[in-house]
Amino acid sequence: MSIRQEVLFKIKSVDLEKVKNPKKVSSYFGENTFSLETMQGYISKATFEAFKKWMSEGKTITLAQANEIASAMKAWAISKGATYYTHWFQPLTGLTAEKHDSFISIVGPGKVIEKFSGNKLIQGEPDASSFPSGGIRATFEARGYTAWDPSSPAFIIESKLGKTLCIPTIFISYHGEALDKKLPLLRSDEALNKAACGLLKLFGHKDVKKVYSTCGPEQEYFLIDKNYYDLRQDLIMSGRTLVGAPSPKGQQLEDQYFGTIKERVLNFMFEVGEEAYKLGIPIMTRHNEVAPHQYEFAPIFEESNLAADHNQLLMELLKKVALRHNLVCLLHEKPFAGVNGSGKHLNWSLSDNKGNNLLNPGQTPEDNLQFLTVLAAVLRAVYLHSDLLRASVALAGNEHRLGANEAPPAIISVYLGNQLTEILNMIEKGAKSKVSKRNIIDLGLGRLPKFNKDMTDRNRTSPFAFTGVKFEFRALGASQNISTPIAVVNTIIAESLDYVTERIRRESTGKDFNSAVIKVLSGLFRETKDIRFEGNNYSDEWEKEAKRRGLPNIASTYESLAALTTKENIGLFEKYKVFSKEELIARYHIWIHMYNLTLEIEANTLSEMVNASVVPAGYEFEKLLARTLHGLMTLKKTAGLDIDDAVLKDKKAHLAEVSAKIYYVRRNTGELVKLLEKAKNLNDHKRAELYFKELKPLMEHIRKHVDALERVVSDDAWDLPKYREMLFLK
Ligand code: ADP
Ligand code: MG
Repeated sequence: MSIRQEVLFKIKSVDLEKVKNPKKVSSYFGENTFSLETMQGYISKATFEAFKKWMSEGKTITLAQANEIASAMKAWAISKGATYYTHWFQPLTGLTAEKHDSFISIVGPGKVIEKFSGNKLIQGEPDASSFPSGGIRATFEARGYTAWDPSSPAFIIESKLGKTLCIPTIFISYHGEALDKKLPLLRSDEALNKAACGLLKLFGHKDVKKVYSTCGPEQEYFLIDKNYYDLRQDLIMSGRTLVGAPSPKGQQLEDQYFGTIKERVLNFMFEVGEEAYKLGIPIMTRHNEVAPHQYEFAPIFEESNLAADHNQLLMELLKKVALRHNLVCLLHEKPFAGVNGSGKHLNWSLSDNKGNNLLNPGQTPEDNLQFLTVLAAVLRAVYLHSDLLRASVALAGNEHRLGANEAPPAIISVYLGNQLTEILNMIEKGAKSKVSKRNIIDLGLGRLPKFNKDMTDRNRTSPFAFTGVKFEFRALGASQNISTPIAVVNTIIAESLDYVTERIRRESTGKDFNSAVIKVLSGLFRETKDIRFEGNNYSDEWEKEAKRRGLPNIASTYESLAALTTKENIGLFEKYKVFSKEELIARYHIWIHMYNLTLEIEANTLSEMVNASVVPAGYEFEKLLARTLHGLMTLKKTAGLDIDDAVLKDKKAHLAEVSAKIYYVRRNTGELVKLLEKAKNLNDHKRAELYFKELKPLMEHIRKHVDALERVVSDDAWDLPKYREMLFLK
């Protein structure tokens, strides 16, 4: 019996956990966060007011006030049982990072007290010289500093034997350059705020104080039994299967999507829900996705900054809680070939401080003009900067999805739906030189319908779709930190809002405002028309059509990332103070490097799996065939066994077939090793190119032969859990 088969037996005996009596969510939501309300109970009124002013107007607090908040945070955390604290941040590698420190401070021989000062709250200095900085930090000043991000509440992470206070922070170099993904997001929200307020002022909303982006990321993931996971080096090393013959039943029956959730999975989901609610993560829906054992969690949207922190936390929770159920949560974009991969839809909108969604058509003709103006700004942003959107989702895992007929293509376009398209066309054609309020109503803009999801969400193939009151950027990978895509969306839209505001201002000076807006919109809708596409994004015709329109279609990660280094894009980000040139170049280098490391890990894992597991299984079977053949031939010769030559010929052919497969696998794996050797002499860019053009196809080629072998080798000899087993959880 193979190890794999032994495991199969074990899995049958997985116990379902006893059903607990769940508590009312409202009774414990956010109990592990140091929310504004909690803080208020711990500090003086003056300090609380100062803190709120800091949040709303950016007026920083004094060190004395920071000390007060730090000691309040400490008191609260200790009352909840926390013994350690950590500055929690989002390094450029996409995971989250923490360095834990104890609250204790020595006050005499053998005597300690719990202490936590304002200085320690505001700035930590982790020994973080090993985080990639893309050349921003020279090793002699390799320190990075973490600085408190007060806009995201501190929270407590529980583990079995203790609790840790986590303080959301940004991570910066000595000279203030962003070494993380969070700071650019915060800066981009500031840029968006300024630009959007400018537009709103022009439309007469003088009292709006702040505009910010809102996000709701829909998180997809797979679950598999941990017993299987432990036997798959590829899953352990690279998060995806590098070999594995497709299961006869995959997703073709479409019987999983929104299907009944298995009890074992449901228990897992309940526990994730409970943990998430304690941390104030407002998850809302959970359901089965298209592929077998693929699922999704979606939250209620929040301010982007918070949504980004919460998504990072949710991903960590998914992994942690899965283990408690002897499951493993796979966040990789393409864990299994032949079935859908996992993405993350980034629902994005912008809201003012009164809670008005700027992408929601309003009640009055003027509101609707404003809505259409914001829409025009979004269209223009995507039209001009689709290269940056593509770059923001460029990573090795996502390369397997984009353009693979399950995720949006690598061509970025916008979907608006019939109704809106008609309105846009009408404005484009019917721009009148003079538009009175009456005429706005004649144009059909007086009372726009609510564009609810049913009307706008019919096209699931679009990478950037308007879905009612928000845009849905659908090209993100499941494992991705959403901060960078948000920062890019915010920045390009800020730039576009500024442009549109300026154009309307110029057009309307001394003229009728509404007419001027309509005229500008008419021009914008025409100029950006090529970015709109309502049809099937997966079709070959679209690829041709997009080419004709001159829209970029970049399949590779290394070419996509190059957008971060062009003069225009550097200029754009510098103008909006989101990234400096150095910060952009650093990101480009780090992300290309990570791509290369990912592929090297995959290739080395594949090579080891082939040599240590696949080939020996092949030899085992080859031996069986050879022995059988040899036995029959000997019996025929020595004992005169009456056996037809055709039968012997068939046995020989079978043996030859299996031997040939093993030969191909070995030969190509030899090539793989040579290719990796060759890559050692290349710089990162050239290396990425080689990996994309040669290494990946070669790995696919090896896989094809390995999978063919898997289909013929006896079940007894095959140690790697098979797709049909992993994907159909008991
Ligand atoms: P879907 O069909 O994609 O599941 P839903 O209507 O369920 O669509 O919403 C998906 C996500 O969109 C949710 O996470 C939701 O919170 C988010 N969302 C809704 N409104 C906004 C908004 N104004 N800004 C950002 N995200 C939003
Ligand atoms: Mg969805």
